[in-house]
Amino acid sequence: MSGPEYVPYNFGALPEEHSQFEKGRLVILPVPYDATASYRTGAKDGPQAIINASRNLETFDEELLCDVSTRGIHTLPELMPEHGSPEQMIKRVEEAAGEILKRGKMLATLGGEHSITLGLVRAHKEFFPQLSVLQIDAHLDLRHSYAGTIYSHASVMRRVYELSGITQVGIRSFSEEEHSFVVEKGLKPFYQRNINYREDWPDEVIERLSEEVYVTVDLDGFDPSVMPSVGTPEPGGLGWYEVLRLLRRLSEKRRIVGFDVMELCPEPDNVAPDFLAARLVYKLATYTLISDEQE
Ligand code: MN
Ligand code: MN
Repeated sequence: MSGPEYVPYNFGALPEEHSQFEKGRLVILPVPYDATASYRTGAKDGPQAIINASRNLETFDEELLCDVSTRGIHTLPELMPEHGSPEQMIKRVEEAAGEILKRGKMLATLGGEHSITLGLVRAHKEFFPQLSVLQIDAHLDLRHSYAGTIYSHASVMRRVYELSGITQVGIRSFSEEEHSFVVEKGLKPFYQRNINYREDWPDEVIERLSEEVYVTVDLDGFDPSVMPSVGTPEPGGLGWYEVLRLLRRLSEKRRIVGFDVMELCPEPDNVAPDFLAARLVYKLATYTLISDEQE
């Protein structure tokens, strides 16, 4: 056959033997959805931008000196948005995630807006009843409702809190209503202003989490200097190595059972944030698969 070599359209541009569903340990679910976004839309283009960037990543990990792509990473087709209501979309995500978990796979979801994490947590909770949730985010997302729906991205952790324990990291923006809720429930978010310039906080975060942990990353938890491609950037966020240190330590001390990377709003003139998101997905996959094997 002549012409350009065929490159499969999947996360990491992996060859067929490493990207088949049956053999894969990890399954990637792209969810291009941004119906409840409050300021800048575009998160629906996030999953495609992450996959595009991932095709140019080195799959050998420079830190752990291994290549987990050979364990198998399968990329599903995009989950088509449900335009009926946010509640219906969350249900669709929950069902899709449940199908994957039923087949013994680990799931990594690419967003898309943060609201759909509720469907993902519901699905994981079925399989891991003691689940707790680690959220990296600039925002608490603890409003009772927002813009007429209790299924908004701004309410997602309020709904998740009704199902499981939550630990929030990188927080630097919230409403009075959310602050009152935090006080009333005795929640102890890791506010960015309190962990800045400190070294010891990852262990404190991990101590709060149960044995089985779902990780949800709203990319605006990162500082906008490294992650400007988000709908609502907030100054003074987490750095790349800080997040990696937390996640690696978490993978050593707890079992990460699933994760999502949400809210990438790609900008055509700056692809570096897309690469950050793709590298983050692959880092989470690497930490998780390696520590799974050591058990
Ligand atoms: Mn946020
Ligand atoms: Mn969020």
